[in-house]
Amino acid sequence: MIVKSEAIVLRTMKYRESSRIATLFTKEIGKISVLAKGARDGKSRLGGALQPMNHVGVLFYRKESRDLQLLTQCDLARSFPGLSSDLDKMAAAMAAVELTDAVSPPEEPNGRLFDLLSSTLDAVSRATKQPGNALYYFELHLLGIIGFRPDMRVCAVCRKPVDPRAGGSGVHMSPNGILCPVCSGKGLGLETLSPAVLAVLQRLQETGDPASATRMVLNTRVRGEIAGVLRRFLLGHVEGLRTLRSETVFSSIL
Ligand SMILES: [Zn+2]
Repeated sequence: MIVKSEAIVLRTMKYRESSRIATLFTKEIGKISVLAKGARDGKSRLGGALQPMNHVGVLFYRKESRDLQLLTQCDLARSFPGLSSDLDKMAAAMAAVELTDAVSPPEEPNGRLFDLLSSTLDAVSRATKQPGNALYYFELHLLGIIGFRPDMRVCAVCRKPVDPRAGGSGVHMSPNGILCPVCSGKGLGLETLSPAVLAVLQRLQETGDPASATRMVLNTRVRGEIAGVLRRFLLGHVEGLRTLRSETVFSSIL
């Protein structure tokens, strides 16, 4: 069967003399691996667009009994020109792509995740202030899509609303979400959330798109805390997720 789909290239590897194997997150059937014969031959029409983080239109032969599908066409559907010129942007975009790869089982379509990843890459590419904020948006909304949405307004235990001003030593993060000062006092929480961090997490959860997140101006301390809280929460819920390759690469550069 020939399948036509939009896809985001998650990763690629060289194969034999001149070919490439790519992992694609397709809108139609979810994550698949494809063989692009001759893609590393300079004259190939397949190779040009088949690069990680690209949003492409693809055609491939799908055989259900096969793990590797044969790619026959790949064209750039939408480009993210800002990503290659800025290390912060590249790091945020690569982390979003790696997380999508980590949470996606093969051949399970997920249109919401596809749209979230695509809008995040676009927001990171266009960001003029803080591209990394789009990654925090992505992580928080990704948790919702995979069924672990931490409600940033309501205590995960007693379900009472939590005011950001009750932060400081009061509000804590637990594996189920935030805890009000009373429930935190029972020793259920893992880490303190400062009022500033809680307020930003609430805004990120309620903001409609990752582009608005990139227009928020957060200081270095708040960004560091948010990155840590979200990453620890993700690690607790995504099986097999340890450190991201992109972070290892970029921590040695930056
Ligand atoms: Zn409570």
